[in-house]
Amino acid sequence: MFVDSHAHLDDPRFDSDRDAMLQRAWDAGVRKILTIGNGSGPDEMGCGIPIAESHDWIYASVGVHPHDAAKVEERHYSKIEQLARHPKVLAIGETGLDFYYDNSPREAQREVFRRQLELANALQLPVIIHTRDADAETEEILKQVRPQRGVIHCFTSGDKLADFALGIGFYISFSGIVTFPSAKALAEVARRIPSDRILLETDCPYLAPVPHRGKRNEPGFVADTTRFVAELRGVTPDALAAQASANFDRVFPPKTS
Ligand SMILES: [Zn+2]
Ligand SMILES: [Zn+2]
Repeated sequence: MFVDSHAHLDDPRFDSDRDAMLQRAWDAGVRKILTIGNGSGPDEMGCGIPIAESHDWIYASVGVHPHDAAKVEERHYSKIEQLARHPKVLAIGETGLDFYYDNSPREAQREVFRRQLELANALQLPVIIHTRDADAETEEILKQVRPQRGVIHCFTSGDKLADFALGIGFYISFSGIVTFPSAKALAEVARRIPSDRILLETDCPYLAPVPHRGKRNEPGFVADTTRFVAELRGVTPDALAAQASANFDRVFPPKTS
């Protein structure tokens, strides 16, 4: 059984075939998906909830992507708090810093990241962190506002951030990027990190793994990334999938009602 720890199922690219796409994921052996509640900005943070409500194997997060940090108003933090009480919402995020695209001013990104980390701690929920070209500052902010639990998603950072994340008890999630022939250093991180900290994701509709590279990505393709990383680590795909699933349940425990 495979787990897709990070998917954007609300994306308009799935509007024409969302049900068929989810059926393909199920048929490929995917038994859990976390759909990310960013939407196209802070007014759409609830976008994953209706999908999670209509599928018992799908869960949601809520939060503001660093790209949208400039759009955040004070009322959005209370909105996060309110949506996070939903029984299927298991995490805050994705949030973080993206100094590659710089779609929002860096000062806004830092502030919105910090505020969401504080909220996650107050709500006792894990955080999903997006970081690109911002390893040092991500580490700095995580040292200042130490989250209780969390994941660095779509990990593409260096060894230093990997070791820091592992040191504070975080999980590291690999997307299809790890299957790209150019991603040798990343493959080495995926090979060496402890088995009780690894997660696998698609980040669909982006970043389809080999052999689907360049196409629209979807949750069923997490099977390809799992097989690739299992090979790197010298374990069977089933063993890695079981481990990733147990890790998912530890970092994103279901809410007991
Ligand atoms: Zn991301
Ligand atoms: Zn994402």
